[in-house]
Amino acid sequence: MGIEKEKRTIKKMILVFCHGKHGTREGLCPECQSLKDYAFSRLDLCPFGDKKPSCRKCPVHCYTPEMRERIREVMRYSGPRMVFHAPFEWFKHRVEEILDRIFKN
Ligand SMILES: [Zn+2]
Repeated sequence: MGIEKEKRTIKKMILVFCHGKHGTREGLCPECQSLKDYAFSRLDLCPFGDKKPSCRKCPVHCYTPEMRERIREVMRYSGPRMVFHAPFEWFKHRVEEILDRIFKN
Protein backbone atom coordinates (compact mmCIF):
# COMPACT_ATOMS: atom_id res chain seq x y z
CA MET A 1 0.00 0.00 0.00
CA GLY A 2 1.18 3.50 -0.70
CA ILE A 3 2.50 5.84 1.93
CA GLU A 4 -0.34 8.32 1.49
CA LYS A 5 -2.98 5.66 1.98
CA GLU A 6 -1.21 4.38 5.04
CA LYS A 7 -1.06 7.90 6.46
CA ARG A 8 -4.77 8.34 5.94
CA THR A 9 -5.46 5.07 7.71
CA ILE A 10 -3.25 5.91 10.68
CA LYS A 11 -4.68 9.41 10.95
CA LYS A 12 -8.21 8.04 10.97
CA MET A 13 -7.36 5.50 13.65
CA ILE A 14 -5.77 8.11 15.88
CA LEU A 15 -8.80 10.38 15.39
CA VAL A 16 -11.19 7.63 16.43
CA PHE A 17 -9.01 6.89 19.44
CA CYS A 18 -8.59 10.50 20.51
CA HIS A 19 -12.26 11.39 20.14
CA GLY A 20 -13.43 8.26 21.92
CA LYS A 21 -10.83 8.02 24.63
CA HIS A 22 -9.75 11.59 25.24
CA GLY A 23 -13.05 13.27 24.48
CA THR A 24 -11.53 15.53 21.84
CA ARG A 25 -14.16 17.03 19.59
CA GLU A 26 -12.10 18.45 16.78
CA GLY A 27 -8.66 17.54 15.60
CA LEU A 28 -6.34 15.81 18.03
CA CYS A 29 -5.17 16.48 21.57
CA PRO A 30 -1.46 17.35 21.87
CA GLU A 31 -0.56 13.82 22.90
CA CYS A 32 -2.28 12.24 19.92
CA GLN A 33 -0.99 14.94 17.62
CA SER A 34 2.57 14.05 18.57
CA LEU A 35 1.86 10.37 18.01
CA LYS A 36 0.46 11.13 14.58
CA ASP A 37 3.46 13.31 13.73
CA TYR A 38 5.74 10.52 14.83
CA ALA A 39 3.94 7.89 12.75
CA PHE A 40 3.97 10.19 9.73
CA SER A 41 7.65 10.95 10.11
CA ARG A 42 8.40 7.22 10.23
CA LEU A 43 6.54 6.82 6.96
CA ASP A 44 8.33 9.77 5.40
CA LEU A 45 11.63 8.19 6.37
CA CYS A 46 10.67 4.77 5.07
CA PRO A 47 13.46 3.92 2.60
CA PHE A 48 11.01 2.00 0.45
CA GLY A 49 8.44 4.75 0.01
CA ASP A 50 5.62 3.83 -2.32
CA LYS A 51 7.78 1.18 -3.88
CA LYS A 52 7.97 -1.13 -0.92
CA PRO A 53 6.69 -4.45 -2.21
CA SER A 54 4.88 -5.50 0.96
CA CYS A 55 4.95 -4.42 4.56
CA ARG A 56 5.24 -8.07 5.49
CA LYS A 57 8.67 -8.14 3.94
CA CYS A 58 9.80 -4.77 5.19
CA PRO A 59 13.12 -5.23 7.00
CA VAL A 60 12.89 -1.89 8.76
CA HIS A 61 11.91 -2.05 12.38
CA CYS A 62 11.41 1.62 12.85
CA TYR A 63 9.24 2.40 15.86
CA THR A 64 10.72 2.92 19.31
CA PRO A 65 9.27 0.57 21.96
CA GLU A 66 7.37 3.43 23.59
CA MET A 67 5.79 4.61 20.36
CA ARG A 68 5.03 1.05 19.37
CA GLU A 69 3.12 0.58 22.61
CA ARG A 70 1.17 3.77 22.00
CA ILE A 71 0.23 2.95 18.43
CA ARG A 72 -0.68 -0.55 19.55
CA GLU A 73 -3.11 0.91 22.06
CA VAL A 74 -4.62 3.12 19.37
CA MET A 75 -5.12 0.17 17.05
CA ARG A 76 -6.56 -1.99 19.76
CA TYR A 77 -9.10 0.70 20.51
CA SER A 78 -9.87 1.91 17.00
CA GLY A 79 -9.74 -1.42 15.22
CA PRO A 80 -13.15 -2.76 16.21
CA ARG A 81 -14.73 0.69 15.88
CA MET A 82 -13.38 1.37 12.43
CA VAL A 83 -15.08 -1.68 11.03
CA PHE A 84 -18.11 0.56 10.80
CA HIS A 85 -16.26 3.16 8.80
CA ALA A 86 -14.84 0.97 6.10
CA PRO A 87 -15.60 -2.20 4.27
CA PHE A 88 -14.37 -4.94 6.52
CA GLU A 89 -11.98 -6.68 4.18
CA TRP A 90 -10.40 -3.42 3.15
CA PHE A 91 -9.95 -2.49 6.76
CA LYS A 92 -8.61 -5.84 7.84
CA HIS A 93 -6.06 -5.79 5.08
CA ARG A 94 -4.82 -2.32 5.96
CA VAL A 95 -4.51 -3.00 9.63
CA GLU A 96 -2.77 -6.29 9.08
CA GLU A 97 -0.21 -4.62 6.88
CA ILE A 98 0.44 -1.84 9.35
CA LEU A 99 0.62 -4.19 12.31
CA ASP A 100 2.92 -6.51 10.44
CA ARG A 101 5.39 -3.78 9.85
CA ILE A 102 5.29 -2.29 13.31
CA PHE A 103 5.10 -5.39 15.43
CA LYS A 104 6.95 -8.10 13.62
CA ASN A 105 9.81 -9.70 15.51
ZN1 LIG B 1 -5.94 12.26 22.26
